[in-house]
Amino acid sequence: MRILIVEDEEKIAAFIRKGLEEHGFVVDTLARGDEALLALANQPYDATVLDVFLPGRDGLSVLRAIRRRGIHLPVLLLTARGEMYERVEGLESGADDYLPKPFAMEELVARLRALLRRAAGVGLSLYQVGDLTLNLVSRVAMRGERKIELTGREFSLLELLMRSPGKVFTRTEIC
Ligand code: CA
Repeated sequence: MRILIVEDEEKIAAFIRKGLEEHGFVVDTLARGDEALLALANQPYDATVLDVFLPGRDGLSVLRAIRRRGIHLPVLLLTARGEMYERVEGLESGADDYLPKPFAMEELVARLRALLRRAAGVGLSLYQVGDLTLNLVSRVAMRGERKIELTGREFSLLELLMRSPGKVFTRTEIC
């Protein structure tokens, strides 16, 4: 499993790298958001650990940009402790999970493994087709900036259709 760590604080980046390598992950580290976006768009990573405050481009902006490009790798966001806004914004921008700093390495590894397992099974937390987005974590559907009210069944149906854009489903498949 190849993981990209994006963290500008060298000590934290080195700490995460060491911990993940000890658990058998292959690790690259970057300190800038703009470089991270380039790397994630061009290289096949299995997941990324993404800090929010970064030079070049902040973590949330990187996250939104990769989701817009249809890159669905699991994203674990590193947030400041107590910053509720950051966590909510992160999840709504397509993060799969977040971890407030400071954190224990064991927790980071456990959360990362859970994300990788989930990615191997169900997959994504945010689908986007055109200006339509569906967040499976917050269960919110948006058309552009407008929130769409859906029943549980409508949400599930939209999720099915957005998993395979352009595909025509038979009635039986939908049922
Ligand atoms: Ca930082």
